[in-house]
Amino acid sequence: MADCLAAVITDFNRELELSRVPLPELAPASVLIRVDAATLCGTDAHRWQGHLRAATPFVPGHETCGTIVEMRGELRDICRDARRAERHPG
Ligand SMILES: [Zn+2]
Repeated sequence: MADCLAAVITDFNRELELSRVPLPELAPASVLIRVDAATLCGTDAHRWQGHLRAATPFVPGHETCGTIVEMRGELRDICRDARRAERHPG
């Protein structure tokens, strides 16, 4: 299984650890993005502090931008010239 390097929160209120984590299986109509930059927002801070329901370990930083490395399903037709993507909760 392929993996990647990520900053992982292994326990609440502890320093993040750089670890290799497995890449998730790509769902239909989805993209795999190599993250070039990510932010940690207030939601991440609350999850890290244990104020929001979260199971550890987890990788924070749900607001990211990066390079598309794989595209699945109909997205290949809709976004065939796309090379970069950003992701944030809607
Ligand atoms: Zn956020």
